Amino acid sequence: MFDAVLVANRGEIALRIIRAARTLGLRTIAVHSTEDAKAGWLAEADTAIAIGPARASASYLNGAAILMAAQATGAGAIHPGYGFLSENAAFAQAVTDAGLVFVGPPADCIRRMGDKMAAKRAMRAAGVPCVPGPDTPLPQDPAAVRALAEDLGYPVMIKAAGGGGGRGMRLVRTPAELAPALEQTREEAARFFGDPTLYIEKFLTAPRHVEIQVLCDTHGTALWLGDRDCSLQRRHQKLMEEAPAPGIDRAAVAALGARCAEACRAIDYVGAGTFEFLYQDGAFHFIEMNTRIQVEHPVTEMVTGLDIVALQLRVARGERLDLDQTQIAARGHAIECRINAEHPSTFVPSAGTIAALRLPQGQGVRVDTHIGVNEKIPACYDSLLAKLIVHGTDRADALRRMREALDDLHVEGIETTAPLHRRLLRDPAIEAGAVGIDHLERWLWSEAAA
Ligand code: ADP
Repeated sequence: MFDAVLVANRGEIALRIIRAARTLGLRTIAVHSTEDAKAGWLAEADTAIAIGPARASASYLNGAAILMAAQATGAGAIHPGYGFLSENAAFAQAVTDAGLVFVGPPADCIRRMGDKMAAKRAMRAAGVPCVPGPDTPLPQDPAAVRALAEDLGYPVMIKAAGGGGGRGMRLVRTPAELAPALEQTREEAARFFGDPTLYIEKFLTAPRHVEIQVLCDTHGTALWLGDRDCSLQRRHQKLMEEAPAPGIDRAAVAALGARCAEACRAIDYVGAGTFEFLYQDGAFHFIEMNTRIQVEHPVTEMVTGLDIVALQLRVARGERLDLDQTQIAARGHAIECRINAEHPSTFVPSAGTIAALRLPQGQGVRVDTHIGVNEKIPACYDSLLAKLIVHGTDRADALRRMREALDDLHVEGIETTAPLHRRLLRDPAIEAGAVGIDHLERWLWSEAAA
């Protein structure tokens, strides 16, 4: 049982974790790079400790420095947030080996689910529906790969088993594109993920991205907390998310959620996690599991009333989840817009200092952010500045609140994606709901052409 937690992350999620830890009466330790030495969110922790230079590889990804900081400050647990070391099995193992608690699943769960191909195999075995395609490595022989692709039928997708963050996958539309795609993806996989293993799957042409949030304790309880729709993506990066997924038969979602909870029991999962699916023609197809808290977790919190980050910490302390599946229900509708420090039409990252700021407030409005006036926004990290989340009685109500909230948001000094969200919320297809993952990029093209 620990009473102090070190937060191995930065920005909005670091602050989110610090706040959750405080509600549980835990002491909080923040770590930071030299670049973030004056960051406002550090003041919210009981202790802040420098772990390295600006370069993430030498600071936020420096597991040894983070462990030393934990030991020096008496932290009993490390919460990795998302990104950085959150899905690094070796780090999770090192934390455990040092006698500390890793706030997340056991290292071998992370390892297994981090290999997308192994994850697919485990999910198939647990009865979770997957994207068509073998869950075994692609053979070296190009002719054998061609035969596999013909079998599946073009278009297909070549994916790196170790891929993530939108990297390490390539769409192949015709047989002629296959050989170069294999070569490029294999090279990228080796370079970025240190593992050249590739696999192939059917490319679904206009699916929706629907995911299931799960939460498990160490006493065998596995719950699913609802679904989210994250189809609004640019270059495989989510921009806007909502809960629940509109227009999908609730009984089908419930059956899928129950399967996910069962799969968690089968793999001895602990903590919060997300099963990601592509949804097309009334069927769900598993693509991957994220073994960590996700950026978009607040939409689930808004509709269920649960504090998922606090629950992660309580589960890590060995507490039993005092909830059963029948007590979990989605009330109303929630939407999240990611406000990034990027130009709203070119998406070029924008660094600088926040000169003036007004954050929206009011009924059903939540802003998860670390920024304040005079906050320096460095160019070297993820561009997420703030998450604007609204909760309404239904989807139409949530949309109205989001439009209002976006109009109330003012950030001066740097460019943000807020103007893009304002325009997007006037798109009739988005207003109607249930768009596919190809929608945003097509919409951006048509806007650029207009
Ligand atoms: P990552 O771990 O890099 O986020 P995912 O496997 O979760 O990769 O895929 C990210 C996104 O790529 C999905 O949300 C979807 O937009 C697209 N995608 C992945 N697999 C397929 C597929 N088989 N068919 C169509 N789109 C896909």
